[in-house]
Amino acid sequence: MKVIAPVAGHAHVLGLTGSPGVGKSTVTTALVRYYRDAGLRVGVLAVDPSSPFSGGALLGDRIRMQDHATDEDVFIRSMASRGHLGGLSWATPQALRILDAAGFDVVLIETVGVGQAEVEIASLADTALVVVAPGLGDSVQAAKAGILEIADIFVVNKSDRPGAHDVVRDIRSMLALASYGPGDWKPPIISTTAPSGEGIKDLGDAIEKHRAWLTKEGQLAERRRARARDEIGAIALAELRQRTGGLPGESRLAELAARVAAGELDPYSAADELLSG
Ligand code: GDP
Repeated sequence: MKVIAPVAGHAHVLGLTGSPGVGKSTVTTALVRYYRDAGLRVGVLAVDPSSPFSGGALLGDRIRMQDHATDEDVFIRSMASRGHLGGLSWATPQALRILDAAGFDVVLIETVGVGQAEVEIASLADTALVVVAPGLGDSVQAAKAGILEIADIFVVNKSDRPGAHDVVRDIRSMLALASYGPGDWKPPIISTTAPSGEGIKDLGDAIEKHRAWLTKEGQLAERRRARARDEIGAIALAELRQRTGGLPGESRLAELAARVAAGELDPYSAADELLSG
């Protein structure tokens, strides 16, 4: 990591999140093709915060089987939590930095579902895409789950399906409730039909616009500083867990938890005990 750090920082990091079935892997495949056509090298990290397994049937593997299997300028890796508490918040930025240093121009991080872990992973991105689709009845709910705040671009996929216009309208009316100052980024809503590639160029253009805004407004540097803060915290926490009784320090924690639950110990003293090893 010491050797890599000075050469990283070139890649544009795209985060892609949304409920299962909205078409994230299809959109990812279409975006990979779009960037390859432009001659760019693309890395994909498919992250499943809920799965204890690495690899498996994640989208990355499906893509790997398809169009980009023999393309040396596309690298796809699936990651799962491997049972580590905080494992992904530690491991994902490291994987990201390696791809960045290896010269990938665009790195796509994709996460499954909608929840705290996804929001965390999305915060790793320079540009966060939230994918929704008609027929799943969850576009508004997704927004309620805090995803609205992290979206730089909304992708309404399956725009060939009935109800797509309603989804666009719902998001538009939600956005109308937010207040934007002059110079603020207002998330655009891009309609796509990923299997045919319809709307993917519009999406690429929107991503480019966002990148230009990030650079112009000094947001890119700010996001990357925030990312570095989180990363340092995650590494320090992992180190702490190791010191407090082997990774992830679960047995010691379990023992203290039992004492706190039984009223023998207060949680502050328990935390002190945990930290002192
Ligand atoms: P993910 O779970 O979010 O990664 O979703 P997938 O990319 O696996 O897509 C779920 C299903 O929706 C697959 O059968 C896709 O072929 C289909 N799909 C993806 N995008 C579109 C679209 O734009 N229109 C339609 N009609 N189907 C789509």
